[in-house]
Amino acid sequence: MTWVDVPADSDFPLENLPFGVAAVPGTSPTVVVRIGDHVLDLAAAGIEPSLTRQPSINALMASGRGRAVRERAAEHLAGPARPDTVHALRDGDVLLPFTVGDYVDFYSSLAHATNLGRILRPDDEPLMPNWRHLPVGYHGRAGTVVVSGTPITRPDGLVACGDGAPAFRPSTRLDFELEVGFVVGTGGARITPDDAAEHVFGAVLVNDWSARDIQAYEYRPLGPNLAKSFATTISPWVVTLDALERFLVPAPVQDPKPASYLHAERDWALDVDLDVTVNDTVVSRTNFRELYWTFAQQLAHMTANGATTRTGDLFASGTVSGESPDSWGSLMELSWGGSRRIELADGTSRTFLEDGDHVVVRGCCRAPGSPRIGFGEAAGTVVARRSE
Ligand code: CA
Repeated sequence: MTWVDVPADSDFPLENLPFGVAAVPGTSPTVVVRIGDHVLDLAAAGIEPSLTRQPSINALMASGRGRAVRERAAEHLAGPARPDTVHALRDGDVLLPFTVGDYVDFYSSLAHATNLGRILRPDDEPLMPNWRHLPVGYHGRAGTVVVSGTPITRPDGLVACGDGAPAFRPSTRLDFELEVGFVVGTGGARITPDDAAEHVFGAVLVNDWSARDIQAYEYRPLGPNLAKSFATTISPWVVTLDALERFLVPAPVQDPKPASYLHAERDWALDVDLDVTVNDTVVSRTNFRELYWTFAQQLAHMTANGATTRTGDLFASGTVSGESPDSWGSLMELSWGGSRRIELADGTSRTFLEDGDHVVVRGCCRAPGSPRIGFGEAAGTVVARRSE
């Protein structure tokens, strides 16, 4: 129990306590934990102020003191009331929680990779021969990772125009991708999957905004670049692996068996219910546990060649799609390449996103007898680029 009022259906009970950064009245941006609809100012509570009176959680993550700080925060919130140390969220601004180091995005959902293969290469095998042997990924743009609520300006780019020269114009096939991202707390190289918990600090929701027309023209032979580098939205609360531990479950069976550096003994799939809304209509509902490659295998793969990871590195799952069409995690799939319209509750329909559309990714973990551990949301509204 805590002296802070926590709504019954909150994503953020005392058992969650995710880390973030907020600017509350009278302070510069500082490290907080979220509880209900409030944040606890850790430095004001006297909890490791040298690590928590900071504009990002990077120093705290690098110190390896995250677990201890979260435990002290829980004690503080369960102890004698100290209302001077908490602030209502409505009174402050929530900021990007960490300075993003490198950003890698994977492609680890079997249903998503199969759907994209069928849409883009209908006459070929949908999966590339390497897909079941390694977690395919690409390097994204760390500097354009933005916090939930940041407006997303429609990108311009070169788009194919029949047989002629491509045209430079605003994307007309702007899409979302429903993903979960993982934040590296302490770095390393040649990390084995079963050591993932030593290195991963926590998880966030991700929307990997994607311009399908720009992507279609640029992606051969080296993969996506400007189609995705204009913005990636993350949720502001880094839910710790400690809070998520009870939701780790067995991963899907992998056939063929992966190479030994990708072999794990422990369960690393994560049972998270996910959904996406466009203008308050749920357009996709799925679960993260079916992902073919786990985040532990993704981390092992990223470092298997000797490459190091650093504090603040972000790696995302790739679009999370389930088997059934209502569980597909992008408009590219839901509209089947733009050939079907998706009906919204306001009577309009979409193939891809229009200016003004508000996209929200939500996620939470539920289990019988366990408090709900939620992520909050990764939200963004599409806006037209202002002409100069
Ligand atoms: Ca993606």
